[in-house]
Amino acid sequence: YEAKQNRNSVCVYRSEMEQAYLRRLSVEQRLRYGLATNSLFMMYQPQVNEEQQTVGLEALVRWKDDELGFVSPAEFVEVAEKSGLMVPLGRFVLETSVREYAELRKELGRSIDLAINISVIQFRQPDFVTSVVKVLETYDVSPKDLVLEITETLFMSDFDRVLFTIEQLRVIGIRVSMDDFGTGYSSLSLLRKLPLDELKIDKSFVDSILEDEKAANMIRSIIAIAQGHSMELVAEGVEESEQASALIKMGCRRFQGYYFHRPMPLDALRELLAETSES
Ligand code: C2E
Ligand code: MG
Ligand code: MG
Ligand code: MG
Repeated sequence: YEAKQNRNSVCVYRSEMEQAYLRRLSVEQRLRYGLATNSLFMMYQPQVNEEQQTVGLEALVRWKDDELGFVSPAEFVEVAEKSGLMVPLGRFVLETSVREYAELRKELGRSIDLAINISVIQFRQPDFVTSVVKVLETYDVSPKDLVLEITETLFMSDFDRVLFTIEQLRVIGIRVSMDDFGTGYSSLSLLRKLPLDELKIDKSFVDSILEDEKAANMIRSIIAIAQGHSMELVAEGVEESEQASALIKMGCRRFQGYYFHRPMPLDALRELLAETSES
C-alpha cells in the first residue's frame, strides 16, 4: 500500500511540474507577443509623507493578455528574466514610465520622485547607464527626479561591477534604492561598502509590526541603519492606520501601501495630484 501511495505521489508531483512548465512556456510565448503588441502598461503607486501628501511614485508594470488574462508581475518578470525577455520588458518600463512622468511633471509644475524597479538582468547590461540617460534626455526629465530600485540578489556576484554602476548613476544624480530590504542576502558589511540613497522596508516586516516584537525590532534596526548612513527610508505595504502610527513612532517618514493608495493608472494619478495641489 505504501509503495502504491508513493508511486501516486510521484505521479502528482510530476504532473505539477509539468503544469508549471507548461504555464511558464505559455507565459513566455504570450509575453513575447504582448511586448510586440502593446498589451503591457504601467500603474503608479503613490508614496506619501507624514501629512499624507504624495511625494513620490513607484512605477509598477501590468499585463493583460487576451488568453491568460491578468498575469502578476511577480510571475512574468521572473519568466522574462529566464527567457531573454527582461531587456525588452525593462526598456518598455523605463521608456513608458519616464514618458508618462514627464507629462505629469509638466502639468504639476513641481517634481516628485519617480521610482522604477530594475531587474538584475537590466542592471548588468553594459549599456544600462547610457540607456537610462538617453531616456531622461528624450523626455527632458531631470536625473534628480529618478530613483532606481534594485534588490539584494544583485550582489550575489560581480560586486565590483555593480558598485561601479551604482557610482556612475549617483554621479549623474540618479538615486539608488534597495527594495525589499531585510529579506535577502545583504549583510551590514555589504551595506557599509554600498553608496545607497534609500532603503525600502519590506512589506513582510510591516505586516507583522503590531504582533511580532522581532519584526518591530528589525524595523527599528533598519531605521537606525538608514539614519546612520543618511539614507531615505520608505516603508512598503502599509495596510492599516495602526501600522502607519507605529512606523511614525519609530521614526519612519515615508510610506507606501494600500492604506494610503493602491497602484493606479496615470489618469487617476493625475486627478489625485490635481486635487491635492489645489487644497
Ligand atoms: P515591489 O517592487 O516590492 O513592489 C511592491 C508590490 O507590493 C507591488 O506589487 C504593489 O502593488 C504591492 N503593494 C504595495 N502596497 C501594498 C499593500 O499595502 N498591500 C499589498 N498586499 N500589496 C501592496 P506588484 O505590482 O504585484 O509587483 C510585485 C513585484 O513585481 C514588485 O515588488 C517588483 O519586484 C516586481 N515588479 C513590478 N513591476 C515591475 C517593473 O516594472 N520592473 C521590474 N523589474 N519588476 C517589477
Ligand atoms: Mg519596488
Ligand atoms: Mg518593494
Ligand atoms: Mg516587496
